[in-house]
Amino acid sequence: MNISCDFLIVGGGTVGLTIAYQLLERKISNKIIILDKEAELGLHSSGRNSGVIHAGIYYEPGSLKAKVCVSGAKRLKEWSIENGIKIKNCGKLIIPQKSDLDPQLDILYERGKKNGAVLNFIGAKEIEKLVPEANITTGRALWSPNTSVINPINVISVLQSKLKSKGVKIINSVKDFKPNKKTNEIELTSGQKIKYGYFINSAGLQADKVAQKFDVGMDYRIIPFKGIYWQLSKNCPINIKLNLYPVPDLNVPFLGVHFTPSAKDNSVFIGPTAIPSLGRENYRLFENIEFQNSIIDFSFLAKQYLLDIDGFRKYVREQAFLGIPAFFLNSAQDLIPSLNRSHLKRSSKVGIRAQLFNMNTNKIIKDFLCLKGEKSLHIISAISPAFTASFSFADLVIDNYLLKNINKS
Ligand SMILES: Cc1cc2nc3c(=O)[nH]c(=O)nc-3n(C[C@H](O)[C@H](O)[C@H](O)COP(=O)(O)OP(=O)(O)OC[C@H]3O[C@@H](n4cnc5c(N)ncnc54)[C@H](O)[C@@H]3O)c2cc1C
Repeated sequence: MNISCDFLIVGGGTVGLTIAYQLLERKISNKIIILDKEAELGLHSSGRNSGVIHAGIYYEPGSLKAKVCVSGAKRLKEWSIENGIKIKNCGKLIIPQKSDLDPQLDILYERGKKNGAVLNFIGAKEIEKLVPEANITTGRALWSPNTSVINPINVISVLQSKLKSKGVKIINSVKDFKPNKKTNEIELTSGQKIKYGYFINSAGLQADKVAQKFDVGMDYRIIPFKGIYWQLSKNCPINIKLNLYPVPDLNVPFLGVHFTPSAKDNSVFIGPTAIPSLGRENYRLFENIEFQNSIIDFSFLAKQYLLDIDGFRKYVREQAFLGIPAFFLNSAQDLIPSLNRSHLKRSSKVGIRAQLFNMNTNKIIKDFLCLKGEKSLHIISAISPAFTASFSFADLVIDNYLLKNINKS
């Protein structure tokens, strides 16, 4: 049976779900359909991330990330409390893992302040009180009291059940579809047609491919970067009760190996890495390897390395090989020098970042990116902190793209 809706959203991660949620909350429409290719929601980035509710520190002032992170974090926390989802309000410490990185703390402080984040410098005594085993390289660190941790799967499942109870139709296991831009409808492989007033692409790791079905974003490509996590083992005498982060390389949108306490229990995750992946959904070693795509991805990354675009050689030196346990341990020891191999165990948790590149300019895309088509919007970059920022990002998408277009039609 053919069906129709005002808004057809492809991708039921936090981005798609919160857009639907805000469309309903703001009474813009209640004729919304969400399609997802998986049998259940939360199988990709939104269900596999670190669950850190970021405080808005890292992002270039004026960027979309900077605009929505602080307010998004506040709203996600309030909404989660209202809906009975547990949050660990443990704060975050950023320490320079090498003494020459100390001046970067000032840059982060300035950025954070401009973005509206609460931040302050603390000295060696306070660092030692918070994490006695921390590597105190220069006697100072940045303290973010508002950084928290949540279990992202809980957020997805409450959003999903609220949307369903308000009449949003969520159709799972939609493996593929063909758009017809003239009639504003898509045809599923089953032959069913869905007519839409407006199409929203929030397909995460596949968002570039979905956009390109609509001839949008032809210069862009998502290259997957794998995030492997380890955990502190039961015999580890070190207990970390807060988020402990290094000073990141601001040329790339990966924050470096860090320690994150679980929102669920007392376990502590270490990671994630950001290593080039052999497939967009290559979560396990031999699962979903995409040979042809990987050849294109790795050739492109080799060019980035040779031309040292955006300081890519530094990323390769510091982060590309952290899949090797000894290198990973070294990176973790930059923050906690007394850690040894027996303190770490490999976690089953793995996430893959949907990192967008412009293949024409060779530029890495560090911000969120939304591209307009005819009666369609394609969110082709929704990397971290899109989970944190989701409610505010959803409103930004509605105000800046959807309402303007609906009013015009
Ligand atoms: C390792 C890792 C750690 C992270 N840590 C954090 C963190 O601590 N804090 C934070 O704020 N952010 C973090 N992020 C980023 C955050 O997870 C993402 O920004 C966010 O989840 C993106 O949500 P999304 O809805 O765009 O994508 P997704 O969650 O990937 O959802 C996309 C959905 O689209 C579906 N889909 C794809 N293609 C199709 C298709 N053709 N048809 C139908 N459906 C389709 C998928 O099945 C999926 O359900 C992390 C990301 C990773 C990978």
